[in-house]
Amino acid sequence: MSRRVAVAAALVVLTLLVGSRWTTNRSAVLANQRSTVTASPPEVRPTTAAPSPSATPPDVVVAPKPKPKPKPAGSGPFGSMKLTGRKQVALTFDDGPHPMWTPKVLDRLKAAHVKATFCVVGTQVKKYPSLMRRIVREGHTLCNHSWNHELDLGKRPAAEIKANLEATNRAIRAAVPNAKIRYFRQPGGEWTDSVVKVSSSLGMKPLGWDVDPRDWEISDAKLIGSRVISHSRPGSIILMHDGGGDRNGTLVACPNVIKNLRSRFGITQLH
Ligand SMILES: [Zn+2]
Repeated sequence: MSRRVAVAAALVVLTLLVGSRWTTNRSAVLANQRSTVTASPPEVRPTTAAPSPSATPPDVVVAPKPKPKPKPAGSGPFGSMKLTGRKQVALTFDDGPHPMWTPKVLDRLKAAHVKATFCVVGTQVKKYPSLMRRIVREGHTLCNHSWNHELDLGKRPAAEIKANLEATNRAIRAAVPNAKIRYFRQPGGEWTDSVVKVSSSLGMKPLGWDVDPRDWEISDAKLIGSRVISHSRPGSIILMHDGGGDRNGTLVACPNVIKNLRSRFGITQLH
């Protein structure tokens, strides 16, 4: 055999080998494609298919996922009440009673035949019990707003929170025996689970708000009024102040705010 013939023979053998290998691979690819085409795509598999033998046996009870704690409708942090739950809005006044501003706010409310909620501070109640008596006499709702406006009250030990709220309630009841104190409002809205638990254990519901004109930092009555009016919606609880500083802006804003809210939603008293 000449060298040329040998090389040609070798080439033939090589070609045959490569060809058969290609055919084998190609067959495998085709087989694969067929199996892919005939298998059900995962997304169209019926979800109600009978359980396979490897599925959880019926005697094994799978614990249901814990449901999130339901919050009352219109609630804020830690379930604090943020909306009245009806169309009418509610007015709330914080940080009094104050000898200069509370009587004037009461006058405005009386003239408009509106009942509000007063969130009072224990130290102020102790100083001005006659104002406390007037608030109750004129039919407004009471809310405990801590002993001395402690912003960090919710972070203190439960026993301390309890003592603080009880001291405030005692001061209110020293002025008005048997006064109904239906609500508690955490100063600064710094709610915690603990302060909600303690106030609830004392029979007071956590009272939040959804409209805050920040009347404690501005004196412009027009701006206070427009903030309240533009942010109010059905069921709003409006936060304003009758204590804690010069409240002339709030006072001047009151008649227009009351007129506007009354015509759009009506004003309700919280019970
Ligand atoms: Zn306050």
